[in-house]
Amino acid sequence: MDIGLIPVDSNYPNLALMKISAWHKNNGDRVEWYNPFDHYDKVYMAKVFSFTEDYSQYITNAECVEKGGTGYDIKKVLPKEIDMIQPDYDLYPQVDKKTAYGFLTRGCPNKCKWCIVPKKEGKIKPYMDVEEIAINGRNNLILMDNNILSSDYGIEQIEKIVRLGLKVDFNQGLDARLVTDDIARLLARVKWINRIRFGCDTQQQIVEVERAAKLIDKYGYKGEYFLYCILINFEESFNRVNYWKTKSRRFIPHCQPYRDINKRHQIIPQWQKDMARWADKKELYLTCDFKDFSPRKGFKCEEYFQ
Ligand code: SF4
Repeated sequence: MDIGLIPVDSNYPNLALMKISAWHKNNGDRVEWYNPFDHYDKVYMAKVFSFTEDYSQYITNAECVEKGGTGYDIKKVLPKEIDMIQPDYDLYPQVDKKTAYGFLTRGCPNKCKWCIVPKKEGKIKPYMDVEEIAINGRNNLILMDNNILSSDYGIEQIEKIVRLGLKVDFNQGLDARLVTDDIARLLARVKWINRIRFGCDTQQQIVEVERAAKLIDKYGYKGEYFLYCILINFEESFNRVNYWKTKSRRFIPHCQPYRDINKRHQIIPQWQKDMARWADKKELYLTCDFKDFSPRKGFKCEEYFQ
């Protein structure tokens, strides 16, 4: 069979497409990125976001089109025999030979109103063992777990990561509220790829992030803390994002404009885009006050405060 793959709305390495590719190659099929001038027995389209365009109606050179991913259907999952396979990293030459992607757990016990994870994956549960992800010398792991600290299994996996000396980035962030003294000691022993990430989506979480960071630092961690900050209400969001400016260069806020997960089409308010442009450039954030930031000719963000 000839198989075409389309990552509809993201260039980030797509784990599902990598697994689909591996499964088809193992079955003797030819797999490539979709090309409008070829003909395919089957085309797979993976869409991450619900608010991006779907162009499946333009795919006329395939016998069959299969669509998947959160952007199409939050409940659709890969068949077990594909889901448990090792990803085909050859699809993404930009992924270096020491890096692997995966999940150790799926789901989350919380229900934050801006987050699709609880609806999509339900309560947290074990998913894979770290040794199934760190294969063929791929010892730098990008792990996309949504709330690993809320799972005993997840914590055991972090202990295993430390024992095996693997490097990790939990790139969806950790929940600072769950960092106890024991967890802090464990996290300080992890070899982090660049930084520890936390969610900092409310004022209360500022306190929790500071508390957690202090504990982890106590056990010797000296790296950065990358903070995911959802933007909802202007004043509250500004205060929360701006808070870290005077604290330490080790705290790096990263803005995420709020999207209503129940709406397909929505307009991101301009202040959210401007705040993200300002805060997400570390030097700009540290050297310029938001009110003095001029994202467009003739406009200064101080107007948002009037
Ligand atoms: S934002 Fe994080 S803690 Fe909240 S529901 Fe989503 S995954 Fe869970």
